[in-house]
Amino acid sequence: MVPIVISYSSVSSRPGWLPAYRRLGDARAMMPLVNDYSIGLDLGGTNLRAAAIDRSGAILDKVSGSTQFSAGREAVMEEMVGAISRIREKYGVSGLAGIGIGVPGFIDFREGIIRNSNNLPFLENFPIRAELQKRLASFVILENDANAAALGEKWMGAGREVDDLVLLTLGTGIGGGIISCGRVIRGITGMAGELGHLIAVPNGNPCGCGSQGCVEKHASATAITAMARLLQLGENLSSKEVYELAQRSDAAGQKAREIWRVMGESLGTTLAVLINTFNFPLYLLSGGMLPAWEFFAPPMMQAVERQSATFRLTKGGTRIERATLGNEAGLYGAAYLPWIEDRPASA
Ligand SMILES: [Zn+2]
Repeated sequence: MVPIVISYSSVSSRPGWLPAYRRLGDARAMMPLVNDYSIGLDLGGTNLRAAAIDRSGAILDKVSGSTQFSAGREAVMEEMVGAISRIREKYGVSGLAGIGIGVPGFIDFREGIIRNSNNLPFLENFPIRAELQKRLASFVILENDANAAALGEKWMGAGREVDDLVLLTLGTGIGGGIISCGRVIRGITGMAGELGHLIAVPNGNPCGCGSQGCVEKHASATAITAMARLLQLGENLSSKEVYELAQRSDAAGQKAREIWRVMGESLGTTLAVLINTFNFPLYLLSGGMLPAWEFFAPPMMQAVERQSATFRLTKGGTRIERATLGNEAGLYGAAYLPWIEDRPASA
């Protein structure tokens, strides 16, 4: 879909980007642009970060939380409310478009509830969005963190020039986000895009989700550590250490390169499934394992080439690339949400 681009130089110098309501002629498009900003909050894996971002994508302010997630629900809720309130006091309530919250795990988007999260079990089935909305008296949207990151890359990162993309976040697990026509694909409840649980290896390693062979059990940082242990390279090596080993010319280096080959092939299988499913122009990879690209990308691309006729037939039209926003992607995407999502009547 080609968006209708209205020239509005004070909004953004990037062609192709404008909030959906501005394109659609929503009444809010008449609001003054001065101080019009949004707050994005990323609950991440261990800590929270929040940022005020204006319509052009400029980060006005950024704060990090100090509360450990082990402190429990009320402490984390207070930290979130505190971080958002501090930013809002600085930039004003009237210019605030809303607050987007990115959280790891399976979420119910409409209810604003985390259904399942390994990192935030104390927030499961708690009405987090309603509670934040009540305490802050502002419009709040809850989103899966990888969905938020995918949206962030679309808005301000590697996906700026396209409307359709898939992002895979390669971390201790593998998250996924699907953007179509510039919007997050959510499915019925908000659980679409859990791409880490696509099966890459039939009858492969067991996964906490109840299945086996999920790509995150074969291509995540955790999987790299486990393979290094199996090959007796070390008990608890990080993916960075396995990457460094792979640069060596000795036997350990060969084993490490073999790990990246297996990882790359699993990832390639998953990308082939996604390319065959969507025929999108862009597939992005992000996360701490990207430095090892030189080792895992060649086998990954070979697997894609072999397993996806769509890729072969659209050569040049299908790109697999590195995301560019790093850890900031989730903050950008969370902040962008209030501008493109419908505001419920109650908010
Ligand atoms: Zn799984």
